[in-house]
Amino acid sequence: MGGPFPVDNGMTSFWRTELDALDDYRSTETLPETSDIVIVGSGYAGASTAYHCQQLAQSTASQPSIVILEARQACSGATGRNGGQLKPDVYCEIGTLADKYGVEAAEEVAAFEVEHLSAVQSCIDKEQIECDLVFNEVIDVHFDDSLCDKIRAGHESLVLHGAHTAQRTEFSPQATAESLSGVKGARGCFKSRTGRFWPYKFVTGLLKRVVSAGANLQTHTPVLQVSETSDNDGRWTVTTSRGSIRAKRVIFCSNAYTAAIAPEYKDKIIPVRGVCSRIVVPNPPECPLGYSYTFRFNEWDYDYLIPRPDGSIVAGGAKSTFFHNPSDWFNNPDDSKLIEAAAHYFDDYMQRHFHGWEDTGAHTDRVWTGIMAYTTDYLPHIGEIPGKPGQMVIAGFNGHGMPQIFLSAKAIAQMIVNGAEYEATGLPRLFKTTTERLENRENPFLAYSNAAGR
Ligand SMILES: Cc1cc2nc3c(=O)[nH]c(=O)nc-3n(C[C@H](O)[C@H](O)[C@H](O)COP(=O)(O)OP(=O)(O)OC[C@H]3O[C@@H](n4cnc5c(N)ncnc54)[C@H](O)[C@@H]3O)c2cc1C
Repeated sequence: MGGPFPVDNGMTSFWRTELDALDDYRSTETLPETSDIVIVGSGYAGASTAYHCQQLAQSTASQPSIVILEARQACSGATGRNGGQLKPDVYCEIGTLADKYGVEAAEEVAAFEVEHLSAVQSCIDKEQIECDLVFNEVIDVHFDDSLCDKIRAGHESLVLHGAHTAQRTEFSPQATAESLSGVKGARGCFKSRTGRFWPYKFVTGLLKRVVSAGANLQTHTPVLQVSETSDNDGRWTVTTSRGSIRAKRVIFCSNAYTAAIAPEYKDKIIPVRGVCSRIVVPNPPECPLGYSYTFRFNEWDYDYLIPRPDGSIVAGGAKSTFFHNPSDWFNNPDDSKLIEAAAHYFDDYMQRHFHGWEDTGAHTDRVWTGIMAYTTDYLPHIGEIPGKPGQMVIAGFNGHGMPQIFLSAKAIAQMIVNGAEYEATGLPRLFKTTTERLENRENPFLAYSNAAGR
């Protein structure tokens, strides 16, 4: 059988050190024969899709039956091992989108991402999910003058052309960048609003909610195949390691692994390994970290950091150590082991980069691997799979799903429960999965990899 499928024994991330009772949960001993909706994957996308379907169906005559099939433990994919940053992009990649697709289309994406801050907060408040949500500011620190100038020019152009969200960031030039950020060698920085939380706790909180409202969660149940055609009842056959389910709707919330079971996405959604760590601080500095950070070293190399309420820091990136070696990361779904070259990258990270951290003894207490889903056009695929009415996808988040998934899942639920058209859901037009995108042979992602020395 092809792949990529989730591998056994994914490394334990910091986020997965406090496991929920649902982690290995199966609602029933055997699988139901039929279901209105089958959701493949129990990460942020799967849990959010189930949640929104139930919420929207509250105002209809009946709740649809929902089965969530998860290959491993609940929330054991990217969501359970990421950087924990809920950071809308209001000026950076949005500038690239504006160049390619126009400011209006790019602004839709930026506004959609910003909307996630309040949408996620409302949900957390409503469902009383304890997941350390904090809103603060993030400083993007630039170390490369030419990249900084280019992004600054892009930002100014966005503002000039009426992209309102671009006004949510503030630029500090070299003269003030280092004192503002506290970062050694900062050449310029952008400050904007962000959020951070414990993604595993948020998602298991949602799963608890949907399971208690009747959704059937089946962990350790990999989907091996989904039929290419539907039967006379319009149902698709979902074949798993534990039997089959016939479903009216199949929602692929399988992110990096989508191509294994939805062949349309072969070479379109690609598993890419990423590295994350947790840094502990035995002797905290006088000024603890007041912001989240992104460090931009060049076009392809960046790290990100979030401070945690316990004084530790979750930091990810480390691409400079392994990007030149594609087999370490490209088209590789193995999160059962470390990328060796990156194992010690974060060891004295805080001392190297921050003023006043030299004597803190800050060091990594855990490093882990996670699998992101990159797409050939850097845009997620959302909506009905072309030619397969009833099969829907919400995947391909390019390492940036936290400010994109919750409302994408809500839109999918509107399509399922209310029969809404994609265009009526508020989803950015660029996210729609289309035949044109699937047939497009351009692959800027490979060009980007080439830049890193492939
Ligand atoms: C190291 C790292 C750091 C990141 N940092 C950030 C960050 O700070 N901010 C941000 O916005 N984004 C970040 N991301 C990206 C973010 O984590 C993802 O965009 C998001 O979690 C994707 O959620 P998801 O539900 O689509 O996918 P996942 O969480 O990967 O869930 C997919 C689920 O589907 C299951 N599955 C797959 N195939 C099958 C199958 N055949 N049968 C059954 N189940 C299956 C998987 O086991 C998995 O549990 C990071 C990702 C990584 C790896």
